[in-house]
Amino acid sequence: MTIKKTYPKILWLIFSSSFFFIILYLSLYYYTKKVEKEVYRNSKIQFSNEVNKLVTLESKPILVAINNDTNWDEFVNFISSRDMKWYEETIATELNIYKADYLGVYDKEGNFIIHTATSKIKSIDFIPKQAMIELNRLRLTKFYMKIPEGLIEVTGASIHTSIDDVFLRKTKPFGYFFVVRYIDKSFIEELEKLTTSKIVIVDNNINLTAGKQEISAGIILKNYKNKALSKLVFKRKFDVYFENTTRILYLIILAFIINLIVSIFFTRKWVYYPLKLLARALETGNRKAIAKLKATSGEFRHIGNLFEENNLQKIELVKSKLKAEEGDRLKSSFLANLSHEIRTPMNAINGFADLIINTKLNDDEKLEYLKVIEKSGKNLVSIIDDLIEMSKIDSNQIAPNYTSINLESCMCELFETIKITIPKAKKINFHIIENTFPALYNIVTDEVKLKQIIVNLVANAIKFTDKGHVAFGYKIDKNTQTILFTIKDTGLGIDENYHKHIFDRFKQVDGDASIKAGGLGLGLAITKAYVEMLGGTISLESKVNTGSVFTFSIPLKYNKIQKITVQSVNTLEVSKGDEDGTILIAEDDNINYFLLQKIMKLKNYTIIRAENGQEAVDICLSNPNIGLVLMDIKMPVMDGYEALEKIKTIRPELIVIAQTAYSSMEDEDKIYRAGFFGYITKPINRERLFELIDNAFLNK
Ligand code: ADP
Repeated sequence: MTIKKTYPKILWLIFSSSFFFIILYLSLYYYTKKVEKEVYRNSKIQFSNEVNKLVTLESKPILVAINNDTNWDEFVNFISSRDMKWYEETIATELNIYKADYLGVYDKEGNFIIHTATSKIKSIDFIPKQAMIELNRLRLTKFYMKIPEGLIEVTGASIHTSIDDVFLRKTKPFGYFFVVRYIDKSFIEELEKLTTSKIVIVDNNINLTAGKQEISAGIILKNYKNKALSKLVFKRKFDVYFENTTRILYLIILAFIINLIVSIFFTRKWVYYPLKLLARALETGNRKAIAKLKATSGEFRHIGNLFEENNLQKIELVKSKLKAEEGDRLKSSFLANLSHEIRTPMNAINGFADLIINTKLNDDEKLEYLKVIEKSGKNLVSIIDDLIEMSKIDSNQIAPNYTSINLESCMCELFETIKITIPKAKKINFHIIENTFPALYNIVTDEVKLKQIIVNLVANAIKFTDKGHVAFGYKIDKNTQTILFTIKDTGLGIDENYHKHIFDRFKQVDGDASIKAGGLGLGLAITKAYVEMLGGTISLESKVNTGSVFTFSIPLKYNKIQKITVQSVNTLEVSKGDEDGTILIAEDDNINYFLLQKIMKLKNYTIIRAENGQEAVDICLSNPNIGLVLMDIKMPVMDGYEALEKIKTIRPELIVIAQTAYSSMEDEDKIYRAGFFGYITKPINRERLFELIDNAFLNK
């Protein structure tokens, strides 16, 4: 759930910080605009003031001059005398002083008297009467008017005697004097220079707005009725403008938008997208999502890797679970099998023993029953052997014991031993496969294991073949420096579905044949473990109802010192031995002793019993006739090893053979190292025991 909320949370964070930024930005924008307006307004007012003052200042000399002229007694005289000479010499010459274009004199009735003008003004009498009437009240006036030549500025004053000042300008005018300036291009240019601005004359009703980066001020030109006639618009460059600030503000908002887009894009890329993949990987274990997550950067890549690891572990777990379930299933079937495999021979042993003990039987019947009991016992031992072997393999207790062996005789020996075990009922042609390239020298391998492998495979071949061929053999492969062994039969064959797992422990082909044949499904597993222990591999080719071919290889290691001397198993010499010796049997278990006693009786040996190690030592000391000791290892009071040690100190030449229920390599090693002549494992094999005793007596 957290995953789904993270992205909106980040978005919310981005948008809320953006919101604050926008508020901040808008305030700044608003403030800037306000300041801009304020500065503009102030500048405009300032400009307007400046222009007004300058214009007033500009016309000040005219006002001063006109004031002087119109309070002049001689000028009053002129109105009545009309002394043109005086006028020409005084007033007319002032045209230049006034820098005016027209000077005009009117009498007190408003009748035109005289004028002086530049060439710019052709009109003569154009001052309206009303303006003169107004002058009676105002004494001095300035107004604008339009004449045919154009716009003009008129400054007028009423003419008085010099005493008028004394009467505080209350005397009646004698006439009127007007100074006119023609508002032409040069006038405007002069004004522009003075005010350092651009000037346009517009109609009063026209509202000229200032352009960008300029300020404007207007002076309304009024006529003598004080009504607006025209407008002078002054324009000046406005340097204090905020364009750059605004630009920067726009840039900021642009940068902000870009930043927002980039933030959202990368949040999607770095957070939303990987989180989505993460959720998908979590919810569905989607491999593509994991691969994409791995292709991202930073922590998400690491998470992707972890996911992959996790997924692999999950797969491993599922595999292990399936394996464990399969193992469980196999173990249950193994236990059922084990029970069956043990109960079957035990049933025979108990049943036939009961018959022998409790019923009257003739010798032949007894013999037959006893044979069954013997066979069942052997079966039981082989089952136990298999189980022990498997657990030893599991706990790595088995190591190969390399010796130099004659492969040819080994094969012959195996052939002879197996051949006699084939049930008569089976019509099997059992043979060794011809080998055109036999081993030239002794080879180095573990003889016992190698034999066990071949025996297991051949025994299976015989077990699952009722008629036809069973053969085994080997060949040397010089290229790969291996020895390839083949065991083939024309029996039942194995369905292809089982090939992959047939070497797994407890695995048997389903069906009556396997059940009938018996076994725990350990043979092939042990065989495979042995082959691998010897550094080789094993494989199978088989078809149902056609037969099977088991092939295994072991590395080829010649022992070139020993050249082969082929010796048939039949020619091996077996000594008859001394059958009249005295043998001490050290055995605490009564039944085992009873069995040994009975076996020994067959050969006329004199038997003495010791029930523990101590007794054995004592008897050896007191009885010099004893020629051989069969020493049990596990005994009360003193065990076999200790007893042997004591005996060796007193009678070092005495032959002591161990008999033990242990059968591992380590036990064997320990026995030989302790100084036993040899050992025999329980259940005791009569033939092997006699062979050992014969050898011992021969060695004396
Ligand atoms: P078991 O001790 O039960 O025989 P193995 O591991 O030796 O166990 O064999 C496992 C199973 O493989 C047997 O039960 C049998 O079904 C099948 N099998 C082994 N060898 C052969 C063969 N040569 N022909 C047919 N089936 C075989």
